[in-house]
Amino acid sequence: MGNLISDGMNTEIGELEELYQEVILDHSRRPRNFGELPGASVKVHGDNPACGDEIHLAVKFDGNGGLEDIKFTGHGCAISQASASLMTAKLRGKSRAEVEQMLLAFHDLVTTGKNDGAKNLGDLQVMRGVRKFPQRVKCAMLPWRAVEQALRQSEGEATVSTEEPEFG
Ligand code: ZN
Repeated sequence: MGNLISDGMNTEIGELEELYQEVILDHSRRPRNFGELPGASVKVHGDNPACGDEIHLAVKFDGNGGLEDIKFTGHGCAISQASASLMTAKLRGKSRAEVEQMLLAFHDLVTTGKNDGAKNLGDLQVMRGVRKFPQRVKCAMLPWRAVEQALRQSEGEATVSTEEPEFG
């Protein structure tokens, strides 16, 4: 499988579990839900200066605060872009409570490796390997911090950064 990976992204994720590399590379090269979202309720710009990752997340809430639609644009390392792709695929159509639960479960997964099967993380589990690399945790969490901010304000625009003191 290593021979399939011949560009610079290999060094970024080379130490992650090899089993998961293919899924991460696939999502980073062909991101799902990538593009503009007309009629978005909230737009959040997420910045990870430590790595140079940027995510522009757009969320459209339904009448009950659930995520009717979610899309992103941006650029950065394979981990950040794959994480955004996997996240948007997972969160579309979810209720607010489900999103909040998933956010906590994903944070646990990438910081402690705790895998809470009851939360149905599914494909998101491919990010588990980043827990060994604190800088990569920021990359993986960037889109999740953006969605957390979107839930917090429900409308308008905002900016979040991994370098803010309150940033976990
Ligand atoms: Zn990154």
